[in-house]
Amino acid sequence: MIRLSLYITLAILLAVGAVWLAEHPGNLHITWQDWEIRLSMAVFSALALGYTLACWALFKLYRWFRTDNPLKSPKRLESRRQKGLREMDLGWSALAVEDTASAIKHAQKAQSLLNGDRAPLRLLLAASPDKDRSDVIKALRQTPESRMLALVSEVKQARIENRLKDAQTLLDEMLEISPKNPRIARQRFELLIDREQWADARASLTALAKTKLIEAQTQKHLTAVICYRQAVEADLAGQKTQARDLTKEALKQEPGFIPAAAFLVRHHLAHDDKSAARKLLENTWKIAPHPDLGQLFLELEPMENPSERFRRVQKFTQLNPNALHSRHLLAQTALAAQHWQEAKQALDPIIQNQTATRATYHLLAQLERQQRQDDAAAEVYLAKAGTAPADPVWQCQACHRPQATFAASCPDCGKFGKIEWGSQKTQRA
Ligand SMILES: [Zn+2]
Repeated sequence: MIRLSLYITLAILLAVGAVWLAEHPGNLHITWQDWEIRLSMAVFSALALGYTLACWALFKLYRWFRTDNPLKSPKRLESRRQKGLREMDLGWSALAVEDTASAIKHAQKAQSLLNGDRAPLRLLLAASPDKDRSDVIKALRQTPESRMLALVSEVKQARIENRLKDAQTLLDEMLEISPKNPRIARQRFELLIDREQWADARASLTALAKTKLIEAQTQKHLTAVICYRQAVEADLAGQKTQARDLTKEALKQEPGFIPAAAFLVRHHLAHDDKSAARKLLENTWKIAPHPDLGQLFLELEPMENPSERFRRVQKFTQLNPNALHSRHLLAQTALAAQHWQEAKQALDPIIQNQTATRATYHLLAQLERQQRQDDAAAEVYLAKAGTAPADPVWQCQACHRPQATFAASCPDCGKFGKIEWGSQKTQRA
């Protein structure tokens, strides 16, 4: 409306101007050096108007070139960007349903639309098969912001191809970028374990504990496991003294470390040092009463009669009288010595505390059979054993699978230092 009235006003002004010029005719006379120009006022006005219109048209053309140029206009760039982002969305969606071929196609389209943007590279990295990634990784390595992403991929690839030394170099580079990242540090530690670089692994544990990336207790436990693993290796290689020293070091780190204690007891027994074996068993029983250690304690005196054995075990279990395995061991030796009363006394508190396990009920069934030949009562206990909680086991704390024996690395999930003795926890689905 405003525009229209402006045009009308302009038209009226032009008409009035034209009429005024017709009524007041005149000439314009310009001389410059040898040049002389004569113009009527009407022609001059027409020229001036034409010039103004030409300037206006040029300005319009310039504006159009700046904003609507099909090659460079912000509008067009924005539309390309939108298309690129749409391709990215389609790519990630395809990847989510594991359609990697489509994901790669969309990422390549996005790459041509979003020229210079690293987002399509990241999609390509995620979608490409391992062997086709090298170019993408190279491109991502160029900028500091995406270097870590490239390194993570490279480490993964190096591990798949079992290039463990390369993986370590890459992890060192990652640690330089992010020195306090617990995941990288932990990964580096695990790599050193896989490479069986025990000394470096121990040093890396110390560093991790110093920077508070792991707790001191975890550090001690893992160091103990490393020492034990080294001891087993040394033992297999016939280096018995070295094996003994490494086991001692493991126990220094974690005095209740059952496999190391059992290993060292066997070492002492093999060297006829019964008193050292007994002392170690007694000390360990106070903090970690484990059936294997109980069995080794029985083996200290192979020639004794059942009553002598019962009396010896009675003293031994007094070191940790309320532990489940103390009571089981005592009941077991009492039964062998036909000390029925003592066997019952050993087991009763477990029933009262409601901490009975399958083994507790099996021992009670045995008591009924041996003392009174009461098969019916024994059957009642065996039925209870069927529903009672399972006895403690070696179990991996990472994958929760029970294991028959201790191992430094879990035979199922491969995690290091995760197998612990204790009550069974539910296995992960
Ligand atoms: Zn495991």
